[in-house]
Amino acid sequence: MALATRRLLRQMGAALLSLAACSGLAFPNIASAADGTPAKQLFGKVQLPSNSAASPIGFYAKGCMAGAVAIPTDGPTWQAMRLSRNRRWGNPAMISLLEQFSQDAVRLGWGSGILIGDISQPRGGPMLTGHASHQIGLDADIWFQPKPAQALSAQAREDMPFVSMLDKSKFLTVNPKRWTKTHANLVMQAASYPQVERVFVNPAIKKKLCETWKGDRGLLGKVRPVYGHDEHFHIRMHCPAGAANCKAQAAVAAGDGCDKSLAWWFSKEPWAKPVKKPDAKPIKPKFVTLADLPRACTAVLAAPAASERSATFGATAYVAPAAAQDGDAAIQNVINAQADPLPVDNIPIPQSRPALQ
Ligand SMILES: [Zn+2]
Repeated sequence: MALATRRLLRQMGAALLSLAACSGLAFPNIASAADGTPAKQLFGKVQLPSNSAASPIGFYAKGCMAGAVAIPTDGPTWQAMRLSRNRRWGNPAMISLLEQFSQDAVRLGWGSGILIGDISQPRGGPMLTGHASHQIGLDADIWFQPKPAQALSAQAREDMPFVSMLDKSKFLTVNPKRWTKTHANLVMQAASYPQVERVFVNPAIKKKLCETWKGDRGLLGKVRPVYGHDEHFHIRMHCPAGAANCKAQAAVAAGDGCDKSLAWWFSKEPWAKPVKKPDAKPIKPKFVTLADLPRACTAVLAAPAASERSATFGATAYVAPAAAQDGDAAIQNVINAQADPLPVDNIPIPQSRPALQ
């Protein structure tokens, strides 16, 4: 057994002991850490967040989240969609931002508020379907359709089709019948918050904004072109202040981003078929396992659950934990025991290539 693996197992064992000591419970999930089970299967089936202080752990595309709170399914200026996915969990800072954004959206004339797509799973982590990121509670998808005045039924929230802002009969072109000034204002409003680090939109939408946006061009630099993102846009927050285990993404370059990084999408390169070497071995798909994630994620997965009620934020009062919660000690033990910093190499950042979306 490799030394690193042995060390990891020893540390997971220590985490298990400290968990057992503080709660007297057994945690079958932890055994899976060493057996190569894809982490998405472990995180994908957890129904509730950990009962611990809010903490984003790791990177947007390689991490997890402690102490998540859920945005209520309905608020005065928002509705959460696709409820069966159970992905309306986030860092409290993200939930607060969405509530603020939903009010600002109404002021901009965006119907009666916003429709909220996926945020994160109850404990973050990789997902069984969709999304490379959304793992630490600091990413959220917003539909390019306003909230109707009437509350949608749970079924309608499952079935309501997405509407693309593109004219699909053309190459990367915004549909002028659908895209309005209010859409532009909405995206730029999201980019305007200091706690927002990036907003992902389709390259065609970014191009349209480059051609038409008359406001702060510096803010436009936060709006990043990524394939997809034509039926919704994606808001990514900075690591909150004091979130020591959150791994920040490189800052966006200065300027409006209406540059080579955008022009690349309109070149042949992103659409070219990958060249296969005749003697190349088939690449085995590699699943992310718990051992690939920051070690504290093993403790997050195993920590006792918060009650659903205490973990709902916003319209129902959320009381931030004043004292340490059950899950805190275990998670902190693992963080303290980390001999190495969080892995910084080989972290997949959201890729721009269509094949990887
Ligand atoms: Zn997203």
